Amino acid sequence: MINGLSTDDYPLTVTSLVERAERFHPHRPVVSRRPDASIHRTTLGECSRRARQLASALRSLGIGDGDRVATLLWNQSEHLELYFAVPPMGAVIHTLNPRLHAEELGFIVADADDRVIVVDESLLEVFSTFRDAHAFEHVIVVTHDRSAPEGMLAYENLVAGAQPMTWPVLDERRAAAMCYTSGTTGRPKGVVYSHRAVVLHSLVIALPDTLAVSARDVLLPVVPLFHANAWGLPYAAALAGAGLVLPGPRLDAVSVLDLLADERVTVTAGVPTVWMAMLNALDAEPHRWDLSALRGLAVGGAAVPRSMLEGYDRHGLTVLQMWGMTELAPLGTACRLPQALEHSTADEQYDFRSRQGVAVPLMEIRARNDDGALIPWDDTALGELEVRGPWVAAGYHRGRGADNFTSDGWFRTGDIVRIDERGCIRICDRAKDLVKSGGEWISSVDLENHLMAHPSVAQAAVIAVSDERWGERPLAVVALRDGATAEPQDLRRHLERDFARWQVPDRFEFVPAIPCTATGKFKKTQLRETFGDAGR
Ligand code: AMP
Repeated sequence: MINGLSTDDYPLTVTSLVERAERFHPHRPVVSRRPDASIHRTTLGECSRRARQLASALRSLGIGDGDRVATLLWNQSEHLELYFAVPPMGAVIHTLNPRLHAEELGFIVADADDRVIVVDESLLEVFSTFRDAHAFEHVIVVTHDRSAPEGMLAYENLVAGAQPMTWPVLDERRAAAMCYTSGTTGRPKGVVYSHRAVVLHSLVIALPDTLAVSARDVLLPVVPLFHANAWGLPYAAALAGAGLVLPGPRLDAVSVLDLLADERVTVTAGVPTVWMAMLNALDAEPHRWDLSALRGLAVGGAAVPRSMLEGYDRHGLTVLQMWGMTELAPLGTACRLPQALEHSTADEQYDFRSRQGVAVPLMEIRARNDDGALIPWDDTALGELEVRGPWVAAGYHRGRGADNFTSDGWFRTGDIVRIDERGCIRICDRAKDLVKSGGEWISSVDLENHLMAHPSVAQAAVIAVSDERWGERPLAVVALRDGATAEPQDLRRHLERDFARWQVPDRFEFVPAIPCTATGKFKKTQLRETFGDAGR
C-alpha cells in the first residue's frame, strides 16, 4: 500500500457505471416507447446528465443519504434516469410493481418508508388506490408537458430547474436499490442491494457466457425495471456502453417484435409468457420481422419449455435459459450449451438447454435433502437449492424471513433441484407454496386463508397447474361446510376484494373433504395428481 488506499479498497459503486456511460458512451441510444405508442429518443449521455440534475432536485426536496425514492414507472427513459440518479447521490431507488394489489402496495411503501414517489401519469389511477397508506413527502409525476395535478410536482420542471450534481464519494456497502418479493404467506419482504452487489452483478451479466454485452449491443429488457433491477440490464448497458430500448407498458407480441426489428435489438430478456406469445406470432408470420440483429434471447423467471427452445431454433434464434431470484439481484445460473455438447444429438442438447443452468462466476451453489445432508451432483438426488455469493442478500429489510438464511451464510431458495456432474441444475419442484403466473407470484396460502374466511367454505387448498400461456395458474380445491352452497363466481367475487384479478383462480374444484397428511397439512401432491399435472 502506497499513500492511503490499497487497490482493493477502491469502492465498487453504481456511480462508476453511470460516469462511464456519460464519459465513454454518451451517444449510445436510449429509445422509449411511451404508453401512447409514440417513440422517444435520447442517449446514455443525456440520461446521465439529466440524472445529475434530477439528483440535485431530489436533494433540494430533502432527500438525503439512505432515503428511499419510490418509482411507479414503466420501462421508460425517466426510470433509467432514476436508476442513474438515486444510487449515486447516496439514496436508495425502490421500484414498485404496479400489478400488485393496492393493499400490498400500501404495505410495501409504508414498510420501506419511502419519502418520495415518482409516478408515470398513466399510473396515477393505480397510485390513487394506495396513496393514503403512507405519507409521502412529495409526489413527482412524469407527464408529457410540464404540468402536474394539484399537490404534485412535475418531473420535467424539477430536472430542468436543477444544477447538475457532483457525485459524492460513497462506500460500496451502502444500499443502492430495493425491491420487494412476495412471501409464501404474510407480507412481502424487502430486499436491499448494495452498490458493490450491483457492480459485480453487472460485470457478470456482461460476460461472454452470460449475456455477452458490449458497446456494439442494443438491449431490450422486456422484464420490467421494477422487477429485480430488470435483471441487471440497465446497469450492464451503462457499464458496457450498450444502447437500450425500453418498451413501456405494451408487451403484446406484435409491439415487442416491432421494436426488436425496428431498433435492431441484439439482446433481449423476459419471462416465458412473453416469448411464448411472440413465438406464436413469429410462427404465424415468419417473414414479417427482420430479426437478423438479434443474437441473445434470455428467458427466465419460470421454466422454459423445450418446445419454446425448439420453436425459436426454427427461426434461427437461440434461447438462453437463466434462473434467478429477487434476493439474488437476480442472476444465479445461466444455461449455455457447453463445448463438450456441441456435437451431441439434438435430443441431448435440448435436454441440457431445458435445465436452469450452471452457477455464474462468483456464485456458489449446493443443495441439501430433508435430513440436511448435501446431495451428490449425480442428477438423481433431490434437495433444496442454496446459494451464496457477492450479490446474494444477507437478510431482508427489518430482519424478516430469517428462516431463509442458514447459520453458515447460505440463502435457502425454496427451489427443489437435481444437480448433474457439470453442476447444472434442474428445478424439479418448489418448496415454497406459491404459484408463478406470467412471471408474477401468487401466494397459495393467502388465497387459501381468504377462501376459508368465506362463510360457506370449510377447507380450501390452492395448487399451481400448468398453463400454456401463463406458465402456471392457481386452481382452488374447496370443501364446503355441511349444508352450505357456493358457486365459483361467489368465491371469485369474494377473493376479488383482496386480490388483483389475475391472482384469482380460474378453476374451482369442489370435493367433500381435502386429503391431509398425518401432521394435518393439505396433501398437495395428491391434489396435483387428481386435478393438476402429476409429477410437477
Ligand atoms: P423472483 O424472486 O420473483 O424472481 O422469483 C424467483 C423464483 O422464480 C425462483 O426461486 C424460481 O422458483 C422461479 N424461477 C426463476 N427462474 C426460473 C427458471 N429459469 N426456471 C424455473 N423457475 C424459475
